[in-house]
Amino acid sequence: MRIGVLALQGAFAEHIAILRQLEVEAMPIRLPQELKNLDGLIIPGGESTSIGKLMLDYQFRDEIGTLAQHELPVWGTCAGMILLAGKNQHASPEPLGVMAITVRRNAFGRQRESFVTELAIPVLGEKPFPGVFIRAPLIESANRNVEILARLDNAGVAARQGKLLATAFHPELTNDFRFHQYFIDIIAGRR
Ligand code: GLN
Repeated sequence: MRIGVLALQGAFAEHIAILRQLEVEAMPIRLPQELKNLDGLIIPGGESTSIGKLMLDYQFRDEIGTLAQHELPVWGTCAGMILLAGKNQHASPEPLGVMAITVRRNAFGRQRESFVTELAIPVLGEKPFPGVFIRAPLIESANRNVEILARLDNAGVAARQGKLLATAFHPELTNDFRFHQYFIDIIAGRR
């Protein structure tokens, strides 16, 4: 199994390190032609305006949109979730529109800009998951075909739509690999 991690900006190295610990072939993706022959793709957290602009400059936008439409499993974390969305309630960036969710960028006010909290994520089992939120977005609304996997203060912070996954938080900054394993299981058709 080969999983690419978009490596234009942000926390891509951390995703690659965890995937390799889970014994999956993982590589940074810096050019659109490197998207070929992948079984899955992660769009990491970082600065969504920068990643969005670089995606445009390097001609990733259409390519990733098309691959997602053709059922390539794609997981966006934080800034990556904003880019996967259908709509962003913020002036920028313009999302790719592959997931039927509306997100709000930088949704947690000043006092809660960055924090760690235990999340209940039933698909990962009973043990709470450490949610690392760094100037995180939230899911404001979602189509009926989107499954909300986790909530915080009633707002969606993790979602699945077919083979597409989005998390407002950063599983790659924890020692808990269950979310990465969940994505691998989706790719393998086990979930
Ligand atoms: N606040 C950032 C943005 O809007 C996202 C932060 C993150 O990815 N940790 O792009």
